[in-house]
Amino acid sequence: MDFHLDNLLNFPHVTVLSCQQKEKFIFLKLELLNEGIVCPHCQTYTDNLHQNRPILVRDLSIFGQGVYLKVPRRQFICSHCDKYPTEELSWIDKGRNYTKRYEEYIYEQVKTLTVEQVSVTEKLSSEKVQNIFSKQAQKKRLVKKIGQCQKS
Ligand SMILES: [Zn+2]
Repeated sequence: MDFHLDNLLNFPHVTVLSCQQKEKFIFLKLELLNEGIVCPHCQTYTDNLHQNRPILVRDLSIFGQGVYLKVPRRQFICSHCDKYPTEELSWIDKGRNYTKRYEEYIYEQVKTLTVEQVSVTEKLSSEKVQNIFSKQAQKKRLVKKIGQCQKS
């Protein structure tokens, strides 16, 4: 819809359908422009959509306002292997309700501030802030380990 918003958002094959402001938050409704996916089970391309159940995903704030993205969560039918693969997006970790860059940002914030301070400025419960921090820390340890394995 909006060329500038799409560019600012900076995700592949994504366009902003609408933008709403509600109680100091901005809600961006997104559309995915790719018609299909490669089935993760059998590597066959499918654009046979089974269902779409959008999820709300927190992203980085813009102009001091918190941002939620309404992201399509699409499940396809693969006629080749008879499975129902759910689309994976490169900018959200599987099963998470935050963009990768948001989780990264929260992790960095908690390293210099306290969980409570981040919770207040982000209007996000301390449990959620703590959860993001722990997940990121775990992920970074894992990446480090893999790096060490490859070196030796
Ligand atoms: Zn398949």
